Amino acid sequence: MNILAVAAECTPFAKVGGLADVVAALAKHWRALGHSVRIVMPRYGTIDTDRWNIRPTQLVTAVPIGWWHEYARLWRGELPGTDIPVYFLESRDYFDRHGIYGEPEGYPDNDRRFLFLSRAAFEVAAATDFTPDIVHAHDWHTAFTMAFLKSHYRYHPHFARTAGVFTIHNIAYQGQSDPHRIIPLAGFRIEEFRGSWFEHDGVVNMMKTGIMFADKITTVSPTYAREIRWTSAGMGMQPYLNLRGADFLGILNGADYTEWDPATDPYIPMQYTVETLADKVKNKAALLEDSVPPHDRILEVPLFGMVSRLTSQKGIDLLLGCIEQFVRSGQARFAILGSGEPRYEHALRLLGRRYPTRVMVFTGYNAALSHHVIASSDFLLMPSLFEPCGLTQLYALRYGTVPVVRSTGGLADTVAEYDPVSGIGTGFTFGEYSVAAFARAIERGLSYYRHPLHWDRVRINGMQQDFSATKSAQQYLAVFGWALEKIGRSM
Ligand code: ADP
Repeated sequence: MNILAVAAECTPFAKVGGLADVVAALAKHWRALGHSVRIVMPRYGTIDTDRWNIRPTQLVTAVPIGWWHEYARLWRGELPGTDIPVYFLESRDYFDRHGIYGEPEGYPDNDRRFLFLSRAAFEVAAATDFTPDIVHAHDWHTAFTMAFLKSHYRYHPHFARTAGVFTIHNIAYQGQSDPHRIIPLAGFRIEEFRGSWFEHDGVVNMMKTGIMFADKITTVSPTYAREIRWTSAGMGMQPYLNLRGADFLGILNGADYTEWDPATDPYIPMQYTVETLADKVKNKAALLEDSVPPHDRILEVPLFGMVSRLTSQKGIDLLLGCIEQFVRSGQARFAILGSGEPRYEHALRLLGRRYPTRVMVFTGYNAALSHHVIASSDFLLMPSLFEPCGLTQLYALRYGTVPVVRSTGGLADTVAEYDPVSGIGTGFTFGEYSVAAFARAIERGLSYYRHPLHWDRVRINGMQQDFSATKSAQQYLAVFGWALEKIGRSM
């Protein structure tokens, strides 16, 4: 199959969250299964073109916007370790900025920037003579590809036999926009806007656009698929998902174990496996070395790690609500790597200053450190309010770092409460979104931490889980086959 993936993020070039990892992991696995994949994304000012060997091509793509054309120079690289072409759109106006989305509020012209990406993807495919069987779009940023495929490119020689699949990574971000601005830019008539597949609550809603125009819609875990269809977690999209009910399903995200494996991880000081699990603690020792004076580097004190965007979605309020009770009692140490909302960064930095040897806070985005924190920690905390899938807990499991999670979305699909009687289970879970419930789950974790037999069991259970992206890549291929059937093609 020929697959054109269009995304706002892709690891390792530009990453804000799990979306980037998934785009790269799927592409790698499809390629390994013999498929032809191309990725189109922006050339952000933050991308290190030298490091990733990304070079300008001779191609300048003309992108129809409104009644005129805008132009983007095309750069080309490859997904590291593969021959998968990645095309980067150079546009000084749209993408040559310090941020990707302009966190925390987002750039005011994000709608137009990503509309441009969505339209340009088709022109890039045509200019490089790639005829995709599938256009695969991710989240609201590239949702308009689904509308373009069914309108402007419906009879285009490269796309007349192409099906569209739209994957929802997080329905909380929907991409709302003023119709008078975006509808004409997208090449549609404003007169037809009211009541159209673009409209939700009187404005353009890119998430709805993707849901309505795609041949098939997926989201990133079966539980999240149920939650967004039937509960307020759907954030207003429930009726559309139910309208498209027969074409919508959840596929659990997979981890890329070539990037996330404690046996081979180049970012951690001490590599280890299930057999050499005792070596794991050397990573903790190395992490403590920089922040904790020698007399206080007691390795027996359990380390709770967190690697996360700092938003309310991630349950930072629950963490802030109980962290001091564990720190003051001397029961635990914390290593938190995150960036996001200033109020959370501020609160965490304060804690770090108040308990410099007990709460290690690293703000900013740091890929290498994220590996080190996950490998060093005994527990990984993910008390999310909602979680479409979550990748960090999958990585933690692989690293023998026991997840303490709220059972929601993909966390419910991937972490099972440890049962001391049967010895089955991989972590500690709670349901109610409250500080007390979270603290109780931490307490339970601590009680097993003190029992070597149980502690080894729960860690090894986690390390033996297989959440490899191979499986999800195959499930996507099945969905792609169904999408092609839907447009009258068989594979
Ligand atoms: P989300 O996509 O909602 O952010 P996921 O758990 O699916 O959550 O994916 C988050 C990804 O981003 C993981 O790979 C995690 O390691 C990484 N990550 C989050 N914050 C940081 C940070 N500050 N520095 C480095 N990596 C981070």
